[in-house]
Amino acid sequence: MSTAYFSHPDCHRHDMGPGHPECPQRLDAIEDWLLATGIDLALDRHEAPRVDMAAIERAHTHGYVAEISELLRGCAERGDTRAVDPDTVANPHTWSAALRAAGAAVQATDLVLDGGAENAFCAVRPPGHHATRDQSMGFCFFNNVAVAARHALDDRGLKRVAIVDFDVHHGNGTEDIIAGDDRILMVSLFQHPLYPYNGAVPKGENMVNVPIPAYTKGPEIREIIEAMWMPALERFKPEMIFISAGFDAHRDDDLGQLGLVEADYEWMTMRIMDVAARHAKGRIVSCLEGGYHLDALARSVGVHLRVLAGI
Ligand SMILES: [Zn+2]
Repeated sequence: MSTAYFSHPDCHRHDMGPGHPECPQRLDAIEDWLLATGIDLALDRHEAPRVDMAAIERAHTHGYVAEISELLRGCAERGDTRAVDPDTVANPHTWSAALRAAGAAVQATDLVLDGGAENAFCAVRPPGHHATRDQSMGFCFFNNVAVAARHALDDRGLKRVAIVDFDVHHGNGTEDIIAGDDRILMVSLFQHPLYPYNGAVPKGENMVNVPIPAYTKGPEIREIIEAMWMPALERFKPEMIFISAGFDAHRDDDLGQLGLVEADYEWMTMRIMDVAARHAKGRIVSCLEGGYHLDALARSVGVHLRVLAGI
């Protein structure tokens, strides 16, 4: 069994402008590190396909999909850019990148469910966890993880899936989409207060939201995970686990002020794999969200993949 790795050159061509932290160089940094460390040799590489619009509409409203598709397609046809919020900008390649980011998550889900890989990581941009049912925001257009989770349930017949979100920012978009859907358990931790300035009060009983004050470090965060996430995951017995893998809670990342280091990402990945091994036949699909300090991002993705691939 292997770890599948999904990406696509279009995900690199999506560019929100000079100085934007969510930049194409994030994927370069990850690729360079995987090559330099030899982790690359353990991965089974796949080109991310474009998602079906029917899959997108399992997580987003028909009206939103029509509206954002027209905007993104327009940028591609005219060769220009449009800002959908002050931080979230489409260029001519965003349409294809967004389709392939969600397509990676869906195809990875199918591959893992069909036994073609034990688990999968999607090195994709744009990220997804701030995209709500009907709004692009926070660098996100389509909610890749929510689309894949709904695909696993609605299209592939699973009864329970979990979403684990360890990005430093609250996954408000995922919460908006899945709150109240008791087939999905979402466990998350995030710095609070911090963008998007919500999440302290969960929107549904299927949410385990853990707001954490700035400057909290790894040992305390591990205790929180053992106390808050693990019992909920054990009770829920997910048949598959999706990870919103943001690495911006790293000590070196300037977009947040939490103090995680590579060893903490290694430990978190191991704990998630323990749950997956007990209840989900090991099935995990992990999708890149944030992580803006290029070196810290690359090293953290590296340890995450080492654990997933068992090397
Ligand atoms: Zn983030």
